[in-house]
Amino acid sequence: MTSHAPVPPAPLVDPFGRSVTYLRVSVTDRCDFRCVYCMAEDMTFLPRRDLLSLEELDRLCSAFVDRGARKLRLTGGEPLVRRDIMKLFRSLSRHLASGALKELTLTTNGSQLARHAAELADCGVKRVNVSLDTLDADRFRALTRRGDLRQVLDGVAAAQQAGLAVKLNAVALKGVNEDEVFSLTEFAHGQGMDLTFIEVMPLGEIDGQRLDQYWPLSQVRARLAERLTLEPIDYTTGGPARYVRVKETGGRIGFITPLTHNFCESCNRVRVTCTGVLYMCLGQEDAADLRAPLRASPTDELLHRAIGEAIARKPRGHDFVIDRETRAPAVGRHMSTTGG
Ligand code: SAM
Ligand code: SF4
Repeated sequence: MTSHAPVPPAPLVDPFGRSVTYLRVSVTDRCDFRCVYCMAEDMTFLPRRDLLSLEELDRLCSAFVDRGARKLRLTGGEPLVRRDIMKLFRSLSRHLASGALKELTLTTNGSQLARHAAELADCGVKRVNVSLDTLDADRFRALTRRGDLRQVLDGVAAAQQAGLAVKLNAVALKGVNEDEVFSLTEFAHGQGMDLTFIEVMPLGEIDGQRLDQYWPLSQVRARLAERLTLEPIDYTTGGPARYVRVKETGGRIGFITPLTHNFCESCNRVRVTCTGVLYMCLGQEDAADLRAPLRASPTDELLHRAIGEAIARKPRGHDFVIDRETRAPAVGRHMSTTGG
């Protein structure tokens, strides 16, 4: 006898056998900062009608959860400047309650975190990544072109107060925060936070040259090792960071090295922009539009078909370079478009 029960959509597995279990969604391209490595001073943001509505974002995320996504990260732009964003966290928290989703999290610049920390925790968010490249207020303002360090530090404190585990992300910038690797480590580990260093990636046109900012993490690590004992450990958060434990502090430091070290072989993630464009790889141009199938029908068949077709094209990996011959960005879109 044949059953007429709806067939659950198939889990997403790419052509290289990698399961897609991690979705990062940019909920806005807007931001209250203009970090020098991320945006130009005078960014033109997208017309609001091009953005997915909160309902569309919910449908899209839920479709991925139905297909096996276990971890969902909201990012941007600055996710916490999107109006009513807590409604989205609230509605997505049902997937945590049902057990379908293991983790709901976000990457934030921290400026609005003090206001939202308690509600995020109430929605089931357990961890949050806060970007913080410097602990010097003047330098912070220059680097973000407008940010207030105090506000971010208050946000971090509020998140910890609310019981959220905070990880700090610092982009390693030559000539900018080179002298802060120890103070950032001390600050993070002193408050029980992990710290991850990120290499500058060639994403989107910015004012100035990335070659001037590029500081390979091999050198960051060597600098840290001058004073600290770095013990390699197996710890992973499912992301691309490789971790060490600092013997002196007991805390962890992660290194994300897209340029000097290829981590594509274990890639389990895809990204969706705030306009519903699915990128199967951060470093490749190939993409699939999910907004059209979302808007074409109130049910999700077209959406599921588009997602399935896109994952079948997920490439083996990327090929970033920053060198003197390759001055143009590897991909034209900004990190704030694809979502960090
Ligand atoms: N606004 C939020 C924030 O700053 O955390 C979320 C979005 S931001 C694009 C996510 C992460 O990407 C941040 O940690 C930021 O430092 C990083 N980022 C932005 N542009 C980058 C670039 N060109 N290379 C490496 N990391 C970059
Ligand atoms: Fe905004 Fe984050 Fe980009 Fe800085 S890194 S400009 S905070 S989106």
